[in-house]
Amino acid sequence: MNPSSNSSEAAKTGGIDYEESGTNNEVRCPVCDSSMQPLYIIDRFSPALDIWKCSVCNLQQNRTVPHDLTTLYEEGYYTGQASFSYEDERNQEEANDMVWTARLRNIGKTNPPPGDFLDVGCSFGGFVASASRAGYRARGLDLSQFAVSEGKKHGRDLMCGAVEPSVFSPESFDVVTLIEVMEHLPDPALAARSLHSWLRPGGLAVIQTANFDGNQARKEGARYHYYLPGHLFYYSARNLKQLLSDAGFRRFKIYRPVDFPLAAKIRKMKRQSQPSRLDPSRILRTAGYHIKGKVALGNFALTSSMVLYAWK
Ligand SMILES: [Zn+2]
Repeated sequence: MNPSSNSSEAAKTGGIDYEESGTNNEVRCPVCDSSMQPLYIIDRFSPALDIWKCSVCNLQQNRTVPHDLTTLYEEGYYTGQASFSYEDERNQEEANDMVWTARLRNIGKTNPPPGDFLDVGCSFGGFVASASRAGYRARGLDLSQFAVSEGKKHGRDLMCGAVEPSVFSPESFDVVTLIEVMEHLPDPALAARSLHSWLRPGGLAVIQTANFDGNQARKEGARYHYYLPGHLFYYSARNLKQLLSDAGFRRFKIYRPVDFPLAAKIRKMKRQSQPSRLDPSRILRTAGYHIKGKVALGNFALTSSMVLYAWK
């Protein structure tokens, strides 16, 4: 690529400089080391997402990756100014606390407070604050300098950094959570090794990400809403378990659709809107999705929602 085409590409992508996909080189699967093949070009984004799939374990990879991942998570990502952005969680903390508290109750059944708790991809640290209130010594890690410095203003113990074993001493934590974060991490094996290193024996990793074995992802194909810039890997319950088991995790439990009850989700919706204005059809749709999410047999699941608990 010559310098002029490079700069026009950068202009088209809001100044972010992307890696070129290695179409000439063989792409190996980071979970099972088999060969990966091109699956989709998803052109509703600019630049288009270049999705590859492992022919053996079905792991999918988006190979449209910026040279510098931190460019994805600047202020605009959180405030809706970036072309691809995330909800500004700061306005939603009270509502989110309804499901965070319910999740912490479930975690506490096997790994109760007090204990050392780390939320990876903590953003502004709302879940860290909930975990502190539940009695854990809670910390957060995030790649975004912006989110970490905003969260610290509220007295939260957050730090900026990537997911690498050296970031924390071995056996520093009893619980490590990655809620809609695993899919953002650029090196799955390094991430799994980091979690295993940071946890004490018996420690719990909680990972929420989409299950691409689920019928929802299979049926919607390239239209599935989970394909997003910044989502670099797309897992299934099977290949995620394989990745973690190769890193040394020994015991697993899958929750479908999530690890908290429907009632917690409805409490969150009620907090988000004035209860009098909460549309009953929205509650029905949420309840329907939640119940559908429980339908699973072996590797078949009706929706693609899952939360994996993995113990060291
Ligand atoms: Zn594979």
